[in-house]
Amino acid sequence: MGLLEGKNALIFGLANERSIAWGITQAFKREGANLGISYAGEMLERRVKPLAEQVDCKWVEECDVTKDDQIALTAEKAAKHFGKIDVLVHSIAFAGRDELSRPYYETSREGFKNAMDISVFSLVALTNAFLPILNPNASIMCLTYYGSVKVAPHYNVMGVAKAALESSTRYLAYDLGPQKIRVNAISAGPIRTLAAAGVGGFRDMYKHFADMSPMRENVTIEDVGNSAVFLASDLSRRITGEVLYVDSGFNTVGVQMSAKEEKSE
Ligand code: NAP
Repeated sequence: MGLLEGKNALIFGLANERSIAWGITQAFKREGANLGISYAGEMLERRVKPLAEQVDCKWVEECDVTKDDQIALTAEKAAKHFGKIDVLVHSIAFAGRDELSRPYYETSREGFKNAMDISVFSLVALTNAFLPILNPNASIMCLTYYGSVKVAPHYNVMGVAKAALESSTRYLAYDLGPQKIRVNAISAGPIRTLAAAGVGGFRDMYKHFADMSPMRENVTIEDVGNSAVFLASDLSRRITGEVLYVDSGFNTVGVQMSAKEEKSE
């Protein structure tokens, strides 16, 4: 029997087959969850629908998380289709290209607001909207990155947004703890996705990661999917307000040296 058998899981942020949300969707499917997928933009016919069909998902809804009415409507539709929800995955982020290539001090007011709205406030808004239909023992999770706690060049306002997202995770976990609803974040190592392509110097960072992480390996969407299964399942039932690093150990190292540099000592 799968770890998520009988659980209704909604996944926000599926753009294409490279999305972290797709790794999570596939892992949830394997573990027996009933799936619902939400996406933004106009990718439905071309990208999202074929993926939803692959996992036999009948509930596919567009939701731009900057729009309160769309969030409310999505929650209404979910209530009608599923009744109650057990797992809610927030795999959404956005910052403009300018914000991810220039120095951080050049961030525009509009760019700052936009990044915070889409990448942080959306978690709060989705939690609020879905709370009435969350089951006790429900699990909410979001995706974050190490640029929240240490400087990752060019990550800029997104690093600041991820810090706020991780903090929001803790505050939401505190609020919902008495209802036995858990809120956690997965901090994934760099993965080549659409969102990552917008970060200046991402290719180099990706390569550096494979050379420097203790496990000398990049992270895949399958790795993140499997960790998401753990957080979604009852195996993690006393874990809340946490940031779980899925990063080949990268965040644990203070002084980074490649295998080549170590050998030459
Ligand atoms: P992705 O496939 O591009 O996913 C980002 C998603 O955010 C897309 O589905 C995008 O939809 C959605 N989104 C943007 N604006 C939205 C809005 N207004 N309303 C609703 N959805 C919106 O890239 P990803 O890398 O899988 O990103 C998923 C999450 O993982 C993000 O939180 C990201 O910061 C995090 N993360 C990524 C990495 C990495 O290296 N890739 C590492 C750690 C954490 P559209 O494309 O249709 O706009």
